[in-house]
Formats: sequence, structure tokens, C-alpha cells
Amino acid sequence: MERLADGPVICAEGYLFELERRGYLQAGAFVPEVVSDHPDVVRQLHQDFVHAGSDVVEALTYYAHREKMRLIGREDELEPMNRQALRIAKDVAAETGALVAGNICNTNIYDPDDAAGQAKIRDLYAEQMEWIVDEGVDFVIAETFPWQGEAELALDAIKQSGLPAVVTYAIHRDGLTREGITPARACKALEDQGAAVVGLNCARGPETMLPILQEIAAVCTVPIAALPVPFRTSESEPTFQSLTDSCSGHPDGDRPFPVHLDPMSCTRMDIARFTTEAKALGVKYFGVCCGAGPHHIRAMAEALGRRPPASRYSADMSKHYALGDFDRQRKQDRDFRDRL
Ligand SMILES: [Zn+2]
Repeated sequence: MERLADGPVICAEGYLFELERRGYLQAGAFVPEVVSDHPDVVRQLHQDFVHAGSDVVEALTYYAHREKMRLIGREDELEPMNRQALRIAKDVAAETGALVAGNICNTNIYDPDDAAGQAKIRDLYAEQMEWIVDEGVDFVIAETFPWQGEAELALDAIKQSGLPAVVTYAIHRDGLTREGITPARACKALEDQGAAVVGLNCARGPETMLPILQEIAAVCTVPIAALPVPFRTSESEPTFQSLTDSCSGHPDGDRPFPVHLDPMSCTRMDIARFTTEAKALGVKYFGVCCGAGPHHIRAMAEALGRRPPASRYSADMSKHYALGDFDRQRKQDRDFRDRL
């Protein structure tokens, strides 16, 4: 909260997609087995994101909950994997001066009419929170909730620890939570129940997240979080799961989600523009979700007027042999630029 009072905070996310691209995590179940199998790869990605401007190192415990671990047959490694993820994140935060955040998330077993299922979710969050509190973090992120009811269970679990909670919804095609509640009302409910920061992550790209952020900003008084996916979603295809691409020839018909989305990727400029526009709406807590790379985070940081260490290597095309403009540039190369 002190950092937010000072100005915007950036929290890089999108670990699952980036580690999938790097060949260390399987799309589908999206369980962060990489934490146990290749901890150095996780450490390096945390470092890359801080280097690019992230103020927060988020422990990679997304989908490292009992339900998901059971799905891949590694339930017995649940606690060591969670603790390992927290320790890696803490180490990088300590080395870099970044904040460290714990993480709990959507379970995919929530049903508003199933009290027993909800009790199971409470248990699942309680055990993860125990490890989070035990290892020690600055705050906890609860994210990617399609249901308000599930987000409230997560917030409740965090509140019992006394740690600040950042709680964000993933809003799907119809623009509402799965109960049918507007995101603005659903965020306001979390604010009223004690969330320190509320907002949106995942599912929507910059274009289709901004209008909803505007509605949230109109009713919420706590800082608002905005972590879109870096894909060019549109009014007719508002989420990255709903994007179509008839040209990619992948096996799932014309739905490129999740591993054939490259042609719809946001450029750094797209992310910079989003950052400026979201900031004008009053967003204070920024990030990029599934699909983010360090280049997106640097673009976000620079759009907020920062110079993270990675900015030392930001593009300077004035030094390019043909497209540039420098003293020793050969005329024949400059004349060649339109033939490139
Ligand atoms: Zn995401």
C-alpha cells in the first residue's frame, strides 16, 4: 500500500505461457511443475521480469493447488512445490528489492449451489495460505476468478492471514461474472469486504478490458488492477479464448487458444498505449497476464515514465545501418532504406 501511495505498481505475470513457450510447462493442465523440475528456469524468469520493470515477484503457485496437482498425479508434492515457489520468489525479491507476493487462484470446481464443493475450496485455499504465511510475503494475489463467489472465498482466506489482498476477476465473453453480475459490482463487493486492490486479469486483451476498467473505476475507491493478456481481442472476439484464426491450420479448428495465438500478439506499442489509457482511467496496479514477455513489461514501465535496467537496451534505430541517421552512415545504405 505504501508503494501504491507513491505511484503505480507493476506486477509481471503470465508465467505459465512464457514457461510453456520456453519448453518447460505443458499447455492444457497448465500446472507449474517447472517449479520442482527446473527451479532455475523459474528464478531466471523472475529476474527477467524485475529487470524489465516489475515491482513485484509473484510466487509461481498459480494452479499449484490440490485439485490441479491431483489432476496430474503429483498431489504428494503439493506442499514442497508451493514452498519451493515461494522461496524462489522471496530470494529474487531479496536480491532485487522487489515486493514478493503469494498467489492463490481459480479452482475450476466452484459451483454456487454446491456447499460441500465450497467447503472443499476453503480447505484448498487455507492450506496454500498456511504455506504462504509460513514462508512470508508482502501481500497475496488472488486471481483469474470467473465467479464472484469464488473470489470471495479466496479473499476470506487471505483476510484471515492479515495480509493485504489483490483480487482480480477474469471476465469472459458475455462481460459478466458467471453468476451474471457486472464486474463493477463484483469488484465493489470485494472492496467492501476488505480487498486492498481489485480489478481484472487475464482473458481480455487491452481493447476489451479498458471499457470494463472504466466501469470499475466509476464505483471503486481502492486502487484498481489491470492485467490484460497481450493479444488483440475485439468486440466480436473479446477474450483470447474466443479469438479465431482460420489460417493457422492447428488441430483445434479455428480456435488458436492457447498455443497458436502468436499472430494476434500485442506489440510493445499496444501495451504502452494500454498503460497510458488505463492510467488515465485511474488504474494504479499494472501488469500483463498470459502471453506476456519481458518486452511487454519494459514497454509498460517506460509508458509509466520509468527506466528499468532493461531500458539500457531499448531500441535506438538511429544507429541502424540503413534506417538510421548517424555521421558515418554510408549514403548508399541510407538510399537503400526504401528497398529493404
Ligand atoms: Zn492469464
